[in-house]
Parts: sequence; C-alpha cells; structure tokens
Amino acid sequence: MKHKYLFIVGGVMSGVGKGTSSAALGLTLKSKGYSVTAIKIDPYVNVDAGTMNPVEHGEVFVTVDGDETDQDIGTYERYLDTNITRINYMTTGRVYQSVIERERNLEYGGKCVEVVPHVPEEIIRRIERAAKEAKADISLIEVGGTVGEYQGLLFLEAARMMKVKDPDSVKFAIVSYLPVPPSVGEMKTKPTQYAVRTLNAAGIQPDFVIGRSTMEMDQPRKEKIARFCSVPPEHIIGAADAPSVYDIPQMFEDQNFADNVLKCFKLKPKQNDLSEWNGFVKKLKSAKKEVKIGVVGKYFSTGDFVLSDVYLSVLEAIKHAAVHEGVKAKIEWLNSEEYEKSPAKMKKELSELDGVIVPGGFGSRGIEGKIKAIEFCRKNKVPYLGLCYGMQCIVIEYARNELGWKDANTTEINEKTQHPVIHIQESQKENVEKGKYGGTLRLGSYPCSLKKGSLSEKVYGSDMISERHRHRYEFNNEYREELEKAGLVISGTSPDDHFVEIVEIKDHPFFVGVQFHPEFQSRPLSPHPLFQGFIKAAKK
Ligand code: GLN
Repeated sequence: MKHKYLFIVGGVMSGVGKGTSSAALGLTLKSKGYSVTAIKIDPYVNVDAGTMNPVEHGEVFVTVDGDETDQDIGTYERYLDTNITRINYMTTGRVYQSVIERERNLEYGGKCVEVVPHVPEEIIRRIERAAKEAKADISLIEVGGTVGEYQGLLFLEAARMMKVKDPDSVKFAIVSYLPVPPSVGEMKTKPTQYAVRTLNAAGIQPDFVIGRSTMEMDQPRKEKIARFCSVPPEHIIGAADAPSVYDIPQMFEDQNFADNVLKCFKLKPKQNDLSEWNGFVKKLKSAKKEVKIGVVGKYFSTGDFVLSDVYLSVLEAIKHAAVHEGVKAKIEWLNSEEYEKSPAKMKKELSELDGVIVPGGFGSRGIEGKIKAIEFCRKNKVPYLGLCYGMQCIVIEYARNELGWKDANTTEINEKTQHPVIHIQESQKENVEKGKYGGTLRLGSYPCSLKKGSLSEKVYGSDMISERHRHRYEFNNEYREELEKAGLVISGTSPDDHFVEIVEIKDHPFFVGVQFHPEFQSRPLSPHPLFQGFIKAAKK
C-alpha cells in the first residue's frame, strides 16, 4: 500500500483543539486496522519549543530521543499509544537550519537556493522521512496556526506540491470554528466559509471540514458549509464541546469520519475496535469517589487569564492513574508564590488534600513556597510526588530541616550557598558559560536502576526502568553520604551510579521525588506506575 497523507489545517482561530481532533482521528483510523503516525508543524522560527516561555507556548513535551516539542506531540502519543520521535516535529527554524546547512555543504550542486521550491522541498523530505521511519500506513500532518498566516504559507505550499504529485494519496481537513454569538442566537458558518476560501487561495481544496463549536452542528448548517465550501455533506464533521476530550474518538466514529477518510484514500476498514478506549471512558465516567490532588506550581498569567496548560501532561497522568484506581481526580492548581507570603493559607489548603505534586520548573519564582509545601507533606504524611524540580526541592528541604543546613539550595538559585545540594551538571557548565541554551539540557530517555526493596522498585515492579529527562542541574554527590545517613533513601540512579534519579523516604504513605518526567510516558490505557502508586496512596 502506498503511504497516505492527511493534512490538518486550522481556520478562523487557533486553540480550538486541532491537536486533539488530529489525535482522535488518528486513534479511530488505528482502530480500523491501519498504523498511523502524526507530525506536527509549528510555523514559528524557534528551532524547538525548549527556549520558549511557558506563557508563549504552554507545556514543552519531551520525546524519547530528547526533542523539546509542542504539547500536541504528547497528545498524539497518548491517543495513538506510541512513541513519536524528533523527525515528526518541525518548525520554520528547523527547516531553514537544514536548508542552510545543506547549502554550506554544497549539497545544492552550485544552484541558487531559493525559498520556493527549496524550502517546501525540505519540508516534504522531512514529512516523507517521518512517514518512513514510523513504518506507518497513514500520516496525519497538523499545521499549527491558521490558514492565511504568512508564516504558514510555505508549509501549505509543500502540502500543495505533494498533492499535485500524488492526488490520491494526499488529502486535507480543515478544523474551523463555528461561533454562536449570544446576541444572534444562531450558529454562524461564514467565518468557516472565509477560512476555506483562504485555503483555496493557497491552491488547496479541503476534503473534510471539522466544525468545532460549543453546541452541536445541525443539518442545515452542515448543508450550508457543504454547498459553499464544495465539500460533501458527509465530510462535514461536527465537533461540539464534549464532556471530556476522551469522548471525541467516539463522537467522530458516530459520524463515520475515519471510514470516510479511508474511503477517500480508496481503503476499507480492516477491523473496527474502539472498545478498549471506550472502556477507559466508561470507567472515567463511572468513578464516584474523589481524590483531591494539589499541583503546587508556579503559574503563568497573561492579562486576566491564568494558564494551567503548562502542566498538561501532569494533569493527564493524574487522570489516567485515577481512572485505573477507580477514583475521580479533583485537581487544585495551587500557587506556591502565595505560600511564601502566607503559611496559614498553605496549611489550610494542603490539609484539605489527599496528595500533592510539585511539577518541573526553572528559576527562583515560587521555589521557597514549593519547599515549604514539601516540608508540610513530609511531616504530615500527605502523599507527595516530586517531578524534576519537585525532586530537587525534596533534597533542599531535607538538607535544611533534617541536617540543619539552613542555606542549602540549588546553585540555580544561589550560587554562593555553603551547601549546594543540587548543582549544575559538569557537562552543562560550558553551555551556560557560552550562553548555549537551545537544546542543550540533559534531554530524553535514560535508563535508571532501582534499589532493591525500595518503594520505587515496588511500584515499578522492576529494577531497571527508562524515563525522559529535561534538566541542567543534578543531585550533588558530595552530599550523598550525609543525606543518606540522615534518612533520605536514594532509590534510583543511572546505571553507572553517577546521577541520583529518585529519592524517597521511609515511614510515609508515599513520598517520592524523581529527577525525570514520568508524566510524559503515561497513557490512558497504560497509566504510569509512579502516578498509580501515588493515587493509590492518596485514595487511602
Ligand atoms: N530547573 C531544574 C534543572 O534545570 C529542574 C528542571 C525541571 O524541572 N524540568 O535542573
């Protein structure tokens, strides 16, 4: 079978769930017996998402091979239940970087290298390589942003060129938004019509229109879009806000979306099995008992809005584990900066929780509040899971309060501390000195061996694991002996014993900190063991 490509572009506005729609469609195609991969294109100039402020970008998702990508890659991994690698993520910066490198290496054979066709050709080369490496039947390619944006044009040009070369194997869907203005009281299709016209201006006719909206799309609306956008009515897919994002695959199924995509490619479903996924959704909805989990983090606001997107994978991992433990997770987003000002507020808020997580982070804002919250959890036996910075903060807290080293800190915050219990990795010093920040953290999957008889070994059910990392600082081995003597258990290290990867304490229902990001490996159908252990303790 020849490989098939479905491009998914956005119209009207961004942020309406193009990533989730792509992932949900991918899952339903997979449920028909086809192997699917997903590619994300971000049209900005940054080479990757790693250098961007969370306000700009939301979560930075880390792949097994250490790419710092858009959170949509995480969504694809969770729905498709597969690892996605570096080649599946591209930005304008990354594409230009390759073109320029090739030009410097004389790979264009003395030709004048032009924006068109050489840039679209590089985009196509990357898409085809991703499809090949994934050994998939179908690639879904999501183009970030909306049609008509200047910076997306070369990607659309690449898609158009692919279509011209092989019309039967390249198709298009546009995810649009159908507003229901309260003053009008009716769902409006005109913005979608404009978006499709704009796509037409790039030489592309969509095969499918996915209409996101707060309410369901009725038949007259479907027919109107079909008529004015030259798309068959059965290819207009309604995507109203769902009770949960996990309902979307079935919502698409009910409208035969995947079947029609296959038909468009002249393919037939080989099977039809969404039962495992729907079993998860059913369990999610039937859970009654609630566990209250607090995520004590640093929050990001833009104007009047506070973003919790930054911790998307953490939120997902909590939900997956909760579903498998038969409970409903109620998540409280707690601002550690406020705990610095008001210990009373902290005590009150944390006392009402069944479990606390301190997620990853960088810099000094809010760190003292996180350390205080960890002390509270340790002393009051509140189940606690520390992720990356949340693990480093355990070490600082323990050194300060159990060893009496009041100034213990990470050198990320205080370079002059007498007790740098967390310090910069040797290999990172040069990067920081030379200002080489992009893509240079300790990134991606590394093995970790677990201590026999530890809580970590118990929850993992194995003594060797592999987890994804994203950090520049590490546990300072000079303090290992003293911290261990004081009762901190080092339960996971790199196989060469250099990196302390997991710390925990005894006589506590659950108190574990990990130098890595387990949240990136949690999937709806296979929750992460650490999160599951944590939720189990919270449930108790
Ligand atoms: N800021 C810390 C470091 O660079 C932790 C990073 C993180 O939490 N991802 O090591």
